[in-house]
Amino acid sequence: MTRAINFSAGPALLPEEVLRQAADEMLDWHGSGMGVMEMSHRGKEFIKIHAEAEADLKELMAIPANYKVLFLQGGAIAENAIVPMNMLRGHGVADYINTGEWSKKSIKEAGKYCKVNVAASSEDRAFTYIPPRDSWKLSADAAYVHICSNETIGGLEYHWVPDTGSVPLVADMSSHIMSRPVDVAKYGLIYAGAQKNIGPAGLTLVIVRDDLIGKALPITPSAFDYKQQAESDSMLNTPPTYAIYIAGLVFKWLKKQGGLAQIERHNIAKAALLYDYLDQSAFFGSPVAKADRSRMNVPFKLKDESLDGAFLKGAEERGMVQLKGHRAVGGMRASIYNAMPLEGVRQLVQYMKEFEARHA
Ligand SMILES: *Cc1c(COP(=O)(O)O)cnc(C)c1O
Repeated sequence: MTRAINFSAGPALLPEEVLRQAADEMLDWHGSGMGVMEMSHRGKEFIKIHAEAEADLKELMAIPANYKVLFLQGGAIAENAIVPMNMLRGHGVADYINTGEWSKKSIKEAGKYCKVNVAASSEDRAFTYIPPRDSWKLSADAAYVHICSNETIGGLEYHWVPDTGSVPLVADMSSHIMSRPVDVAKYGLIYAGAQKNIGPAGLTLVIVRDDLIGKALPITPSAFDYKQQAESDSMLNTPPTYAIYIAGLVFKWLKKQGGLAQIERHNIAKAALLYDYLDQSAFFGSPVAKADRSRMNVPFKLKDESLDGAFLKGAEERGMVQLKGHRAVGGMRASIYNAMPLEGVRQLVQYMKEFEARHA
């Protein structure tokens, strides 16, 4: 068996140890005689898996006691609707910061439920920077301020937490959650699809301050009402049990790596290796403003686009897959989530050097 060096933006690579453990436990979880996929979500075995996953997540992210952790479904795209349904709380307007493709989707969807004020945007420079906080034009009575804290497609990341005063800050953290420590108390709500940095597609994580829930719009489906889900331990409907189990194994793997502060150091080193190379190259380049570059998703371009195909083909020959950039921005993109070892990035940079030497 040969494992690819997988730069997919999502669903993305998982730690090999986690996959091996899941394979070992596929037919019989801990002597229960059942695989996790076959268990009742209300049985004692799965209740334990669920509770441990939640406890490990709370520990890793140091989630304060006044926050609810929900394991839901629908992905971040469903949250684009579920967030306003739950979080408007009688307000008519919500503020959104537009930093790229994922922000644009959030803005469009929220517009079905409320007035959306786009308080700042970096569209003027093709979403290559994060608008500084002092340029934001926030509304007087916003229900919340929404950001996409890591733009997976454009490769932008907030390396600071915006101060929104008493207005709750809401963040789509799908593609960098658990890549670094976060001060959860600075957010009203954090949401993330699991398939970038946590586990399989199908699980959506919501972390919400408990005083903000309980005022969902009457049209809100019960399965998407945070209060109802919080009261039933995310089991109002059948949760995505297997995805929760794998996420739980990933949380245990993260604890073994030394937690989020340690994984952040590792992520800084991986990103620096790639960006440092891009910055000294006359052949490749990064379009993103230095201060706002994502550590997880690194878009880059060949100065001569006619070589894109040859670059991708040579990468595949070396076992490096999923490097093609998103169609919205073109070029290349290397997604280097928590599970990507430094060695994977080193091999990519080595290949880029060789390719540059051959074609420059
Ligand atoms: C991948 C991604 C999404 C979409 O998630 P779905 O699971 O397809 O709903 C939304 N936001 C961000 C930032 C993403 O990276």
